Parts: sequence; C-alpha cells; structure tokens
Amino acid sequence: MSDIHLKSLVKSYGENIAVAGIDLHIRQGEFFSLLGPSGCGKSTTLRMIAGFIRPTAGQILIGSDDVTRLPPEKRDIGIVFQNYAIFPHMNVADNIAFGLKLRKKSREEIDTAVAFALRQVGLVGYENRYQRQLSGGEQQRVALARVLVTEPRILLLDEPLSALDKALREEMKYWIKDLQKSLGITTVYVTHDQDEALTMSDRIGVMQKARVEQVGTPREIYERP
Ligand code: ADP
Ligand code: ADP
Repeated sequence: MSDIHLKSLVKSYGENIAVAGIDLHIRQGEFFSLLGPSGCGKSTTLRMIAGFIRPTAGQILIGSDDVTRLPPEKRDIGIVFQNYAIFPHMNVADNIAFGLKLRKKSREEIDTAVAFALRQVGLVGYENRYQRQLSGGEQQRVALARVLVTEPRILLLDEPLSALDKALREEMKYWIKDLQKSLGITTVYVTHDQDEALTMSDRIGVMQKARVEQVGTPREIYERP
C-alpha cells in the first residue's frame, strides 16, 4: 500500500509555526492537491513527506510504514520542483539514468528503463540533448522521467508548472494528470493556482495559515464558498 497518513503533523521555526497540526489521509493512487496562498505551509508539508525537513511533532505513515524518522532515500518517493533541477552537463539520457547508476543497476537494465521512461514522457529521440536545447516544458518532462525511472511509491510535485508560460502550463496540466492516472501512482501536488488544483485533482486539501481548512473533491471545493 502507498497511501499516506499525516498525523498531527507540526513544524515550527522558533515562534513561526509553518504547519500547525495536519491530519490527512491521502489514498492509494489518488491525485491529491494541497492548495493555498503563498506562505500557508504547503511546501513545508511536502518536504516533511519527502524527508527533507524533520517534523517538530506528529507522524508520517506511507502504507503501514512509519517513515517519520527515515531519511529521504529510504522513503521510496520521487519529487519534482518548480525549478527543474536537471544537470546541465549531462544529456537527457544520462540525467534520467542518474538515479539508477546510484543504485548500481546494470548497463542493460539502465538502458531499458531509460528507453521506457522516455516513452512515458514523450521524449523519444531527445536522448542526446542538453538542458540548453530543451524548452521549459521538456525540461520538466525530463525531471519527471528522472524520478519515474526509479519506480517510486509516491510522487510529490511542488509547483512544477509555475516556471512555465501560460500556454505550456495549460498543456502540461492535462499531460501530468493523464500520466498520473496511467501510472496509478499516489501523488501529492502543491499549488497556489486554484484552476490547476480543480482541473487535475481527485481531491484537494485547502490550506490557510498553516492548517488544512477543508478537504474534498474539486466539485465539493468549488461549490463550497
Ligand atoms: P479516510 O476518511 O480518508 O478514508 P481512513 O478511514 O483511512 O481515512 O482513516 C481513518 C483514521 O484511521 C485516520 O485518521 C488514520 O489516522 C487511521 N488509519 C487508517 N489507516 C491507517 C493505517 N494504515 N495506519 C495507521 N493509521 C491508520
Ligand atoms: P508555501 O509553500 O505555502 O508558500 P511554506 O511551507 O514555504 O509555504 O512556508 C510556510 C511558513 O514557514 C512561511 O511563513 C515561511 O516563511 C516559513 N518558513 C519556511 N521555511 C522556513 C525556514 N527554513 N525557516 C524559517 N521559516 C520558514
């Protein structure tokens, strides 16, 4: 199982409470968005799930595993940020292969997995390109492929579209949603863009001042003022 339970999750920075006690169940296979204005604690929540930040209090379960104290590399998650961190000195194929090399996979396994990931993100033929030869959207696809190739249980996306122009954002919105559905991977998506959350999500958690104020389907959230 790869559902996620957040239990009384808290993060404070001195006097500043970034996350003030969140209880949330994100179901297996669901596309769940955390929606809210800048500074409400979305990224902090996501980074606690990823293991980059240690909670001040509370618990994080993935399936029945308590990962609260596990380092990121033991959590089996993939994360993509706003600023597609792909390595500029490596071509697309080497970028995607990077995580597999760290895991000491064989050359053959790596080639097969990279080819598969390139098909998943629609970048067959782009193997030998470098970052400067890719559009913003293509760079985000490479960043996603690099994560998906390791077959994580959970996919975390932190404002992955906000560096793209409006037309590309529209296109990528539907593309990410379709990819997520075809993979069936449990996904947590952080955004301040209501339209993105309403279009892409199975359910949305609306955040306000360090708390999740309401949880519901896009229809429920849209109809509740
Ligand atoms: P939902 O209302 O989203 O369907 P559940 O019924 O799955 O939520 O969970 C209800 C409560 O039971 C949650 O608050 C959660 O803390 C607890 N719970 C459910 N499944 C587990 C689990 N696998 N491990 C620990 N606690 C769980
Ligand atoms: P969001 O992702 O919704 O924009 P964040 O999770 O980034 O919000 O930030 C939530 C709050 O926590 C903000 O008030 C922010 O200033 C504060 N915060 C985030 N990271 C740190 C940090 N490393 N040190 C101190 N305060 C922080």
